[in-house]
Amino acid sequence: MRTTSYLLSTLKETPAEAVLASHRLMLRAGLIRQIGQGLYTWLPLGLRVLSKATAIIREEMDKAGALEMIMPIVQPADLWRESGRYVQYGPELCRFKDRKKNEYVLGPTHEEVITSIARREIKSARQLPVNLYQFQWKFRDEIRPRFGVMRSREFLMKDGYSFDTDVEGLGKSYQAMYDAYSRAFTRMGLNFRPVQADTGSIGGYKSHEFQVLADAGEDLIAYSDGSDYAANIEKAECLVPQGEREAAKDAYSEVPTPGAHTVDEACQAVGVATKKMLKSLVIHGRKLEDGSNELVMICLCGNQELNEIKASKIEGIANPIEFASDEEIQKFTGAHPGSLGPVGFKGRILVDRDADRMGNFACGANRDGYHLINVNWDRDVPKYEVFDLRNVEEGDLSPDGHGKLHLCRGIEVGHVFMLGTKYSEAMHCTVTDENGKEVPMIMGCYGIGVTRVIAAAIEQSHDDRGIIWNEALAPFKVAIVSVRADKSEAVRNTAEELYQKLTAAGIEVLYDDRDERPGFKFADMDLIGIPHIVTIGDKGLSQGVIEYKDRRSGERENLPLDHMFDALCAKFAKNN
Ligand code: ATP
Ligand code: MG
Repeated sequence: MRTTSYLLSTLKETPAEAVLASHRLMLRAGLIRQIGQGLYTWLPLGLRVLSKATAIIREEMDKAGALEMIMPIVQPADLWRESGRYVQYGPELCRFKDRKKNEYVLGPTHEEVITSIARREIKSARQLPVNLYQFQWKFRDEIRPRFGVMRSREFLMKDGYSFDTDVEGLGKSYQAMYDAYSRAFTRMGLNFRPVQADTGSIGGYKSHEFQVLADAGEDLIAYSDGSDYAANIEKAECLVPQGEREAAKDAYSEVPTPGAHTVDEACQAVGVATKKMLKSLVIHGRKLEDGSNELVMICLCGNQELNEIKASKIEGIANPIEFASDEEIQKFTGAHPGSLGPVGFKGRILVDRDADRMGNFACGANRDGYHLINVNWDRDVPKYEVFDLRNVEEGDLSPDGHGKLHLCRGIEVGHVFMLGTKYSEAMHCTVTDENGKEVPMIMGCYGIGVTRVIAAAIEQSHDDRGIIWNEALAPFKVAIVSVRADKSEAVRNTAEELYQKLTAAGIEVLYDDRDERPGFKFADMDLIGIPHIVTIGDKGLSQGVIEYKDRRSGERENLPLDHMFDALCAKFAKNN
């Protein structure tokens, strides 16, 4: 490809709206353009990269025995009513009517459609297992689209769905996808980690997210330094805290703490460290007959954070978690949030395992402007239940007993999930087993955010001059920059010869044949991030060489003119 006949849309200026490096560089290199909130056009250069990722994923899916198909973006609302998600999915689901007043949705995912296909096309258990996948654009009306294609409203997903007759079969299908994802992300050169993820309300089944490790990531991951344990913070657990509870000393007493509302303010007013202060929150439990909510208190160490997912899984707790309003709290306890504590609380009390180890601690007095000191479980709070309720922290012990946990940020690029029979039961997607009995198919679903992967790759690999592609995702493998070609026939001829040879060999090459200053052309090639950059100018030619630069290392080397093609090819990564 010659730049003179290509649409290079590079920008010199840094777009003001872009906070993340990947977003900034995707705009500056001319990969994408925003056309509306969370809606992007992929320009020719960007599409080349997207197609590379697509091809790698497709190869790995095919290798794993999955079958490619394609399903419509527009889906009948009735399918979503059948699964129960028409209402449950909430405002992210874009619902609309056609001219005949028929109701539709724009697919944010395709479980409903694939389940309706499977129930029609698959009748017998002998036809299973089957694994079907597609690349399709999804629409989710995200509340806060941001960071370019990292969280957009329209995005390309590879979504796949497996159908099995039994749980062992599902296990195999799941592992095949887990392995295929690992291979695909490895080939893309990503530094990633599969981490255990929450399975929501589907109990007993597994789920992993594939997280690209990057500070810009929205997710927090905990991983062990002594084993391969890794989990999303939502799901991460740690070993039960060690050590004995401090023995109770003096009776508790009340101290005035005027104006202290936060844990820190209360600690200051009382004069204790945060780990000696109990943090008390009030959430909703069961719905009561009069329509009001049972109020439940959650108690944590003052320096620790509630894990809402863990709390929401406890029997009798609203799921997703709902915090009680100020009015509800005041009516029930007589105090405002900020002065709450378990002593005398009339409802159910859930205590985190670490908080349960506290002795002679401080907490709110359930009276505005007052706290209690020297409080002790059992003696002062006779009835309470102990659970794991907090987020893990740096230095906690890994739940498998090997090593300590550390925290880092990640970008979720893929997700594998054992669905079980959630959709097949709701939508009567069954097969006849060997005994002639109708049984629901057991499903798994597997997604990769293909457009997000591109942003994640850039987030992990760039410098102040631009993107640094590895060969697998690069829009072009080689760039040829001719220097002052307008003044030199030798430069034009050599560049043309190399360009022709590379092209004939099927190597993707961008020949920058523009009559621009060399510095301008170099800056563009660096910004676009082409891995191998060759400069052809009179100076080198007079010495019988062309100049080569490795974009990632920045190392330069002269290649002999008389076998420039072979010398250049020797620079390419061996596995591509
Ligand atoms: P997130 O927690 O980031 O919203 P999700 O759990 O909703 O993701 P899934 O429903 O599992 O995502 O979708 C599969 C994949 O699609 C995700 O792993 C992610 O890579 C990608 N994805 C999801 N939402 C978006 C989005 N708004 N923009 C770009 N990619 C997305
Ligand atoms: Mg989401």
